[in-house]
Amino acid sequence: MESIILDGKAVSAKLESELKVRVENIVAKSGITPVLATILVGEDPSSKVYVNMKGNACKRIGLTPRKVLLPETTTTEELKNAIHQLNEDKDVFGILLQHPVPRQINERECFDAIDPAKDVDGVTATGFGMMALGEKVFVSATPGGILYLLKQYNIQLAGKRAIVIGRSAILGKPVAMLLLNENATVTICHSKSENLPELVRESDIVVAAVGKPDFVKADWIREGAVLVDAGYHPGGIGDVEKSAYAKTSAYTPVPGGVGPMTIVTLMRQTVEAAEKALL
Ligand code: NAP
Repeated sequence: MESIILDGKAVSAKLESELKVRVENIVAKSGITPVLATILVGEDPSSKVYVNMKGNACKRIGLTPRKVLLPETTTTEELKNAIHQLNEDKDVFGILLQHPVPRQINERECFDAIDPAKDVDGVTATGFGMMALGEKVFVSATPGGILYLLKQYNIQLAGKRAIVIGRSAILGKPVAMLLLNENATVTICHSKSENLPELVRESDIVVAAVGKPDFVKADWIREGAVLVDAGYHPGGIGDVEKSAYAKTSAYTPVPGGVGPMTIVTLMRQTVEAAEKALL
């Protein structure tokens, strides 16, 4: 059986063109061009690249990107003040605080200072809780992108055994909750999990969010499983060995699978926030 490629590049390009039309509609009806604000604290080079990528995506769909750059020495209070200003700003419909922040900052306190209505990256404790309860809310971007991609290909989730390898707050935990909300039977694994290969072999849907190149071996994957590889490492290496693809019924390639879905999900949620407030 041929494996279906879950083509994040194509799906995100199609979604972007739909979002462009929706932004034109918002501007035409309200006279407001919505702003997505990104706060970058310090000089982390990869964070700068991500912030620029998000800014470019905004421009492609007609949103106005706003960069808020704060020095490495910023305190928790100063960062919270910057967030409060954006909460009050009527042109701003989405706020992103680029992770990681310098060590002296209490990141959780700052995430939770974001107005939930503008939390388009699903980082607030309120947002996470609402998502876990199955309420309609903005979700963490990569998990939201993964679910959108699976739905575009009509991948059946209800009743299936899904395994998520990784339990980070931005990826493993929320994607597990979203799969549970779709009535999958979900196992969450982490660095202390025993018998991981056996657990993966029993799974119909495998989400790898480990952050270690080629960590998941091809012989762990059962014939016909759906494979989602959220990992990305230099040289286009994922968290799963590429030789696993041939065994799957559907898989996300690296690159071009999960990666492109993350930024477009931020854009989609910002457009939804603006539509909710303005239309
Ligand atoms: P993270 O915060 O480092 O979390 C990694 C998770 O993997 C942790 O929960 C850890 O368990 C678990 N883990 C580590 N070693 C393990 C082992 N031997 N067996 C089982 N589990 C193990 O990483 P993350 O931020 O979630 O990111 C995961 C991957 O996704 C990375 O490759 C990252 O580049 C990628 N990513 C991609 C996007 C995108 O847009 N495409 C976005 C975000 C992340 P413990 O909790 O026990 O430590």
